[in-house]
Amino acid sequence: MVDTKTQYLKIKPGVDAAVLEVMESSMFIGGKVVAGFADNLAKYHGSKHCIPCANGTDALQIAMMALGLQPGDEVITPSFTYIATVEVAALLHIKPVFVEVDPKTFCIDPAAIEKAITPKTKAIIPVHLYGQAADMEKIMAIALKHNLFVIEDNAQAIGCDFTFSNGTVKKTGTIGHIGCTSFYPSKNLGAFGDGGAMFTDDDELANQLRMIASHGQSKRYYHDVVGCNSRLDAMQAAILDIKLKHLDEYIAARRKAADHYDKAFGGNKIITIPFREGNNKHVFHQYTLVLNTDKDPSGYRNGLNQFLADKGVPSMIYYPVPAHKQKMFDAFGGSNYELPVTDWLTERVISLPIHTELDEEQLEYIVKNVLEYVNR
Ligand SMILES: *Cc1c(COP(=O)(O)O)cnc(C)c1O
Repeated sequence: MVDTKTQYLKIKPGVDAAVLEVMESSMFIGGKVVAGFADNLAKYHGSKHCIPCANGTDALQIAMMALGLQPGDEVITPSFTYIATVEVAALLHIKPVFVEVDPKTFCIDPAAIEKAITPKTKAIIPVHLYGQAADMEKIMAIALKHNLFVIEDNAQAIGCDFTFSNGTVKKTGTIGHIGCTSFYPSKNLGAFGDGGAMFTDDDELANQLRMIASHGQSKRYYHDVVGCNSRLDAMQAAILDIKLKHLDEYIAARRKAADHYDKAFGGNKIITIPFREGNNKHVFHQYTLVLNTDKDPSGYRNGLNQFLADKGVPSMIYYPVPAHKQKMFDAFGGSNYELPVTDWLTERVISLPIHTELDEEQLEYIVKNVLEYVNR
């Protein structure tokens, strides 16, 4: 699904030197390498503050803590997402309220958000799934109207530009009150291990985020609030700082691979290619097809997954079980939800390899095998 090895080999001298430098400095935690990367990443995003942390899951948790969300509060989030988004809410005894996604963009449906708002609702957590932005203009308007916070889960869409109807362009992850991202190795900006970051333009919130990520410390050994220990280490920061310089080029390579697939699959009766919303630039963390068949859809889809595996082509189902149907959420009334669009997608989606190192030959081989299955 990814080829981080080939990607590394292309930037090996720089990365190796940067890692060696960290080793020789013995500044493994904090220090100027981490601060320098955070600055560069904030600049890239056009965000006032970037606070690095240990991973994307922590980023979401720390964001909820910094906003002062309390046990019993509700957050509105899609069920069609990676579990981390909602797991941390549950961990803090905050109730995730699952809503439907748009069947075309796979992102949270703004109309569904409004219907799910109760007096206990405190925040909306849109997920920019697969690398495409949720409708942030509508979401921010709803949040403003109902006085809610917005935490963007931007783990899959780092570098995605969202254009508002007045022409303003912002990076996803900088539109809501707090944006969260992940540097998990397979993400679009991937570390050689774990990492994450939070973004905000609000000085006070930035302060809170920084404190909570560091044991609630306001200054060394003075702990003002209950926090946690969530740090990006200097080696990851050094590697990420180099990869950040290539991020736009990496995104362009992903989009080029997506264009190739689109051309090959467009017009096929069984395959729906990823929809590209006009107001944002899809960064293709995943290239996800919907297979249009109503007779045993998941059996048909799983059949393609196996067929491709037999030909040496990886493919993945993101995600085979939506959050509301996970056992974990039985206690939150997960089984009471009726989310037909989410269920419909869960049975029909399949993601093909997409990364920065795919060449024409590989793409052609993947395309040929997908078409062989769906056209037979
Ligand atoms: C990867 C991911 C996360 C979690 O990031 P980690 O760094 O693995 O903790 C959260 N949300 C989404 C949508 C993700 O894809």
